[in-house]
Amino acid sequence: MTLALAIHGGCGTLPKAEMTEAEWAQARSDLASALRAGWTILSKGGPAVDAVEAAVRVMEDSPLFNAGHGAAFNADGEHELDASIMDGATLAAGAVCAVKRIKNPVAAAKALMLRGDPLLLAGPAADIFAEHEGIDTVENDYFSTERRRKNLSSMKIRELVGTAAEASEAEKHGTVGAVACDAQGHLAAATSTGGYTNKPVGRVGDSPIIGAGTYARDGRCAVSGTGKGEYFIRYCVGHEIASLMAYKGLSLEQATQEAMAELTAHKVGAGLVAVDETGHIVAPYNTDGMYRGWVTPDGLMHVATHADVEMAGQA
Ligand code: ASP
Repeated sequence: MTLALAIHGGCGTLPKAEMTEAEWAQARSDLASALRAGWTILSKGGPAVDAVEAAVRVMEDSPLFNAGHGAAFNADGEHELDASIMDGATLAAGAVCAVKRIKNPVAAAKALMLRGDPLLLAGPAADIFAEHEGIDTVENDYFSTERRRKNLSSMKIRELVGTAAEASEAEKHGTVGAVACDAQGHLAAATSTGGYTNKPVGRVGDSPIIGAGTYARDGRCAVSGTGKGEYFIRYCVGHEIASLMAYKGLSLEQATQEAMAELTAHKVGAGLVAVDETGHIVAPYNTDGMYRGWVTPDGLMHVATHADVEMAGQA
């Protein structure tokens, strides 16, 4: 079996000119740390579902990505976080949405998955569930960063002057996610997000919706998406890609291209990472850039923000 791991840190990348060299270096280094966390598990024969959780946790802890610490603010200046995880071997999945106090929402999603039922918990009930499970909880302002605060102010101004539609992808959103194929050929996917800046209170995106922003099914593929969640939900993007492969016999590449084309037709900024059971990885996006990375079977890490892909050493 070919081990495979791919991650994304969202398609809400900044235009290259707007980020300092130090910030770029940090983004690439955090992507590499996420890859290393997942690959360490896979290379020891561990399950794909543990690898994707580990990779997503690292990106949740980084202030640079819109998930966990560094998440977007909603319209009330608070953070409401969504996350999910799916094990392609069993189709078991867990998800939390609109949570305000869970430090690593993907960990709560995994705990829920292991419990088996319910699959999706919302808001305060999910925060309380996490506490009962002994998962770290924090005050809501733990998630705040200066950059996201500026994004909220600029989106509020745009709303007033009617230019919200012209906001850059970076002002608006982002997400983190991971997909993996383990030594047993099992697939898994996980996604975590703060949603989009200035989102209405209570709005839930695609990231915790199994079949939309996250999907994994052995023999087909594992998918984690980023972009305007309303469209990922309408098109059931993750499940659609898996179905195009199963019913139409398309390759992973063809199926993801078809799904991306529908999003692009709606002028929706979008991207995703996906892997199939042969360990083949794709990471398409239709925006200026997408934080992303993957490990080739020889254990070499690759990270990228815009078109150029860089080697980031041995995982
Ligand atoms: N998909 C996320 C959401 O709609 C946002 C993003 O990926 O940019 O909540």
